[in-house]
Amino acid sequence: MGRETLQLSDAVYQYLQDHSLRETTVLRRLREETATLKEARMQLSPEQGQLLTFLAELIGARKAIEVGTFTGYSALCVASALPNDGCLIACDVSETWTAIGQRYWEEAGVDRKIDLRIAPALETLDELLAAGEAGSYDFALIDADKENYEAYYERILSLLRSGGLLLVDNVLWSGKVADPDHTEESTLAIRAFNRKVHADDRVSLSMLPIGDGMTLVRKRA
Ligand code: CA
Repeated sequence: MGRETLQLSDAVYQYLQDHSLRETTVLRRLREETATLKEARMQLSPEQGQLLTFLAELIGARKAIEVGTFTGYSALCVASALPNDGCLIACDVSETWTAIGQRYWEEAGVDRKIDLRIAPALETLDELLAAGEAGSYDFALIDADKENYEAYYERILSLLRSGGLLLVDNVLWSGKVADPDHTEESTLAIRAFNRKVHADDRVSLSMLPIGDGMTLVRKRA
């Protein structure tokens, strides 16, 4: 099989950013503040954030959900694409991290579109399903603990409408998915998840080598 994916040198990556990013000042400042945290590598790259905004706009998303909010960069990207009466349910377990995001959501004027749920995301997703919300979401992002990816996926798939879009981050896991020497739980979980989605005929998919690898999943009718 041919390998046509471009290896990005620093110069080409800089060119890509210089010629595509339209990162707002608020987004850039949030990213810079997050970069000072020891967990900074958990943050999406700015081109990933812009892809989220682009795709949410493309499908005209009104109802969205994310699993793994961290310091709120992705939530800000998605909420910016939602109409005024749109809503993003943001799931995370950390009040410390999400408090950083909330300051920037307010500054950007999108805070009223974000419904932050501090709880284990599986509980929040199950509550939404129990409340009759199945089939009503347009857009979703999974970017949280890798061991639960399959469990998040099944619930999100139920919550999405036909044609709804799910983005899943870290699917290439720094390349460890393709290196059999790596057998830690997180890597095994991502490998199993990738196999499952690849074989799942309920969805269409596209795995992109952007950031740490991101799979686009579209729920079929
Ligand atoms: Ca991530």
